[in-house]
Amino acid sequence: MIMKHTLNALPLTNTFAKLGETFFSRVKPEPFISQPEIVHFNRHAAELLDLNPDTDPQQLANILSGKLPLGKDDPIAMLYAGHQFGHYVPQLGDGRALMLGETTNTRGEKWEIQLKGSGKTPYSRMGDGRAVLRSTIREYLCSEAMHGLGIPTTRALCLIGSKDEVYREQIETGAMLTRLAPSHVRFGSFEVFFYRDQHEHIRTLADYVIEHHYPELKDHADPYLSLLQEVIKRTAKLIAQWQSVGFAHGVMNTDNMSILGLTLDYGPYGFVEAYDPGFICNHSDHEGRYAFGQQPQIGLFNVSCLAQAMLPVLEVDAAKAALEKYQDIFMQHYYALMAQKLGLTQNEEQVATLVNELLDQMKQSRTDFTRLFRQLCDIETNTTPADTALRDHFINRERFDQWLGDYRNLLAQEATTDSERQQAMKKTNPKYVLRNYMAQIAIEKAERDKDYSEVERLMTLLHNPYDEHPDMAHYAEVPPDWAGGIEVSCSS
Ligand code: AMP
Ligand code: MG
Repeated sequence: MIMKHTLNALPLTNTFAKLGETFFSRVKPEPFISQPEIVHFNRHAAELLDLNPDTDPQQLANILSGKLPLGKDDPIAMLYAGHQFGHYVPQLGDGRALMLGETTNTRGEKWEIQLKGSGKTPYSRMGDGRAVLRSTIREYLCSEAMHGLGIPTTRALCLIGSKDEVYREQIETGAMLTRLAPSHVRFGSFEVFFYRDQHEHIRTLADYVIEHHYPELKDHADPYLSLLQEVIKRTAKLIAQWQSVGFAHGVMNTDNMSILGLTLDYGPYGFVEAYDPGFICNHSDHEGRYAFGQQPQIGLFNVSCLAQAMLPVLEVDAAKAALEKYQDIFMQHYYALMAQKLGLTQNEEQVATLVNELLDQMKQSRTDFTRLFRQLCDIETNTTPADTALRDHFINRERFDQWLGDYRNLLAQEATTDSERQQAMKKTNPKYVLRNYMAQIAIEKAERDKDYSEVERLMTLLHNPYDEHPDMAHYAEVPPDWAGGIEVSCSS
């Protein structure tokens, strides 16, 4: 029987804070002026902390909005820099987030607890330190959706709303998100010390990360090189997973890249609908630097920035050799995932050709990514009941027929039965993803009527995106026409 803590009795330490104030600033949260209220509390994430999900809601709202401290917390804003849209920005840091501390659960997992939207810090620059309800709902839902898809991500514990006014393009209300991650260290946490010529801190930070998050590397001949290699591997794998579900992050700056290979900092993300590698989900990204199809390459740029920042503790040639592996690791994982999506376990080279040809046809026809792959799960090797519906998604139907014939030939070589394969495919091709318009419905209900029921409904749906949910089947349809008008930018 696992002991469950109430929030105010959660055992808390802050190992990062022991590194000293070169790495962060001590800041207290600025609570809302109005009475905070719970928009959503995520019982699944509470389990990660061994937290009693029936903790008094008022206590939750007060603590997770900074009105009351979280036990003996030691809130810190972490320092980092980063390459934003390709340009180095020397000082960023948590401008509106505070890490309250960390707790270790009975399974030995360490979770940092962070408030996002908790007021100004020394790193706020021109910002107000706040987050708005709209953007926190988006982060809340998507981090849990990614978890549901099986993709490494930060988690979301709680969302608190307020009546406090926050100024963006229009007046909105402030909200605070409680985010959980084993560590919030970013690539930019290393870069800041490289560019400041404070190289001894790079070693300290690398030692910290290895000690707490990659202990198995400690005994390697060159633990710093092993760390870089491991981060390169995790990043390549993560991006392969993004590509396999059509996820576009939107702001892959190095300050948004996790040292643990987690999806981090959800801003103007989007899931590809009508397939297009040029899909840009961030309305502020005029050049398409972070377009969907660019992500694998940007991943390489980002790990190169990390490698450069770690050069003071690495051999140059070894770092170069580690970077050279990125492309292969990405390709290998990407095609393995795509093969799984097609239910194919053999003929690697032919599978890559098949995948590329399908995506090319989907691009030509602007076929819905999630729907098409889910529909492919119903294909049978020998009979053809699903063909008519499928080929209607393509402009050049004869070209698709040809593809389907090739696909069936490969399926015929698989050892599994159709039904075994179909079941397996349904575990890798989600029926539901968080389409922008779905988040928008939840946001509008919350903003207009303080009706948070859609957040709850979507959370249930997205925690199990591979299952059928007959009562929410409309969310697996093509998006309504008005969805095309939604614009999401960095403003949040
Ligand atoms: P982001 O684009 O959300 O990853 O943020 C980039 C940088 O801007 C980070 O250093 C953030 O902490 C900071 N930032 C974003 N929004 C605000 C805000 N409203 N107030 C203060 N800092 C912010
Ligand atoms: Mg960020």
